[in-house]
Amino acid sequence: MTDATPRQRWLLGPGHDCEPRTTGTRPYRLILLGAPGVGKGTQAALLSARLGACQLSTGDVLRGARTLDACDRSPAIAAALDAMSRGELVPDDVVLQIVRERVDCLRCGGGFLLDGFPRTLAQADALDALLAHERVELDAVVSYELPIPAIVARLSGRRVCPACKAVFHLETQPPRVAGRCDHCGTALVQRDDDRPEAVRVRMETYAEATAPLIDYYGSRGLLVRVPAHGAPDDVLRRTLGALDARVPAPSRA
Ligand code: AMP
Repeated sequence: MTDATPRQRWLLGPGHDCEPRTTGTRPYRLILLGAPGVGKGTQAALLSARLGACQLSTGDVLRGARTLDACDRSPAIAAALDAMSRGELVPDDVVLQIVRERVDCLRCGGGFLLDGFPRTLAQADALDALLAHERVELDAVVSYELPIPAIVARLSGRRVCPACKAVFHLETQPPRVAGRCDHCGTALVQRDDDRPEAVRVRMETYAEATAPLIDYYGSRGLLVRVPAHGAPDDVLRRTLGALDARVPAPSRA
């Protein structure tokens, strides 16, 4: 998958350089919320290509840690990866350490699209403190919404490319050659946490820990609700329309 914005600094951590963004829009600073499987990651990648802001996914950073040799994993990271494969949330302190180490990405002049963070009220409070310290303001929090049966169907058919991270779906977005990535030909895999038992845990965890963030940001006037049914391009159009209504066009030029 082509990244509009190389995300080395986010994915690999501090000390890695990023190239300047190339789109001419204003910098957007957005949080993307939504249940697992709602299509948030797909929208983050499409929005990144359109708006030039980097997709900052905590899930991608944690999945990157899986490629470390067992002896290079700290006990905290090893425990986090175990929690992740069961579909549970990684402890707040581990996630917050990951984000704090990458605070440069929050102060980036190109803006950011936070994908999968925050996921708990404690993480949202910590993010508020980080942003206030950096004097950075959020433009909006986009909440993607879809009924639960549709989400479960999306998750069970999802296949991902372990090399370039492209996402496919057995029914709605099959690869051109069965089981192979359209972009790089690598064999597609099912994420551990897309297996049925982990999906059940993730949905329960979302309802308990993450759904309260909808009210948290709603009460601050930041929430933009976007129905997430239909093809990715349709959802993207809806998202851009909702953002236009919130951020008047002249100031986006
Ligand atoms: P995602 O790719 O965003 O669906 O994240 C995959 C998994 O990584 C989640 O099911 C969690 O186990 C873990 N994870 C990612 N982001 C967070 C976060 N902000 N807080 C806790 N766990 C997270």
